[in-house]
Amino acid sequence: MSTVSAPARPRAIAWRLASVAEVRAETVTTRTLVLDVPGWPGHRAGQHVDVRLTAEDGYQAQRSYSIASAPETPRLALTVERLEDGEVSPYLTDVLRPGDRLELRGPIGGYFVWDVTLGGPLLLVAGGSGIVPLMAMLRHRAAVLQHADARARHEVPARLLYSARRWDDVIYREELARLAEGDETLEVALTLTREAPRGWTGFRRRIDKMMLAEVAWPPAERPRAFVCGPTPLVEAVAAALVELGHDPARVKTERFGPTGGSA
Ligand SMILES: Cc1cc2nc3c(=O)[nH]c(=O)nc-3n(C[C@H](O)[C@H](O)[C@H](O)COP(=O)(O)OP(=O)(O)OC[C@H]3O[C@@H](n4cnc5c(N)ncnc54)[C@H](O)[C@@H]3O)c2cc1C
Repeated sequence: MSTVSAPARPRAIAWRLASVAEVRAETVTTRTLVLDVPGWPGHRAGQHVDVRLTAEDGYQAQRSYSIASAPETPRLALTVERLEDGEVSPYLTDVLRPGDRLELRGPIGGYFVWDVTLGGPLLLVAGGSGIVPLMAMLRHRAAVLQHADARARHEVPARLLYSARRWDDVIYREELARLAEGDETLEVALTLTREAPRGWTGFRRRIDKMMLAEVAWPPAERPRAFVCGPTPLVEAVAAALVELGHDPARVKTERFGPTGGSA
């Protein structure tokens, strides 16, 4: 008689208690939460965590947030945009203070990830807070390449096309400028869809095929593309890249639509 054993169930990722070390204002509506997470197993650039809030009456709400920090950094950073009518994000951006605690689990996701060993060219396309996991990739790239010679940098060139409504909505604006300034193999292009400062010479419209053709490498260079942001932007950009001739298998997407829910 043969015995049948139950199929192995994937192990649930444990919830951990993180403590808020720092809250940093990035823009009027976004905050970076720098967290100490005891026992954190490490992550890859592009992964996310689930955050769970529990009210005094036991009501729980859970949402996903991308990890903004590089794997090389000991503390975990999340960058959260406040949605005015949101259930979770206003608590994270406006109420949390250093010393407060937060439940999270992760790292989650093995598809939308990149590290230097995968090679380039690296094409990043972001809309709004979709910059967060792409920033983890750029920070990781900078951390690994900071002591590398020019040849190593030229093997993984990176280009970022980032769409924001206004100049003041550009998350990590100064850090992006700093990274690009010190690295001839990183190019950052911004498009401002609502309002641009006087004298602005960059793009002034939503990302479209023409803009992608101008910014991206030609398909023959086989860039690895990562596209992240609101669902309509992600879908439009991914479709345009494929229409331009890029290999769909090299265009990875992450949609920041509504997530989670309540329990
Ligand atoms: C893998 C993944 C990673 C994510 N990473 C980040 C991140 O790094 N930073 C970040 O700020 N957000 C991120 N999000 C979005 C985040 O999970 C929440 O959806 C967001 O914070 C809104 O939650 P809320 O409870 O405040 O709003 P809710 O109470 O859930 O929604 C309020 C209203 O806003 C709409 N809505 C919900 N989410 C969005 C959204 N993302 N964009 C526009 N409208 C929305 C809802 O339909 C509803 O009308 C990520 C989502 C996914 C799936």
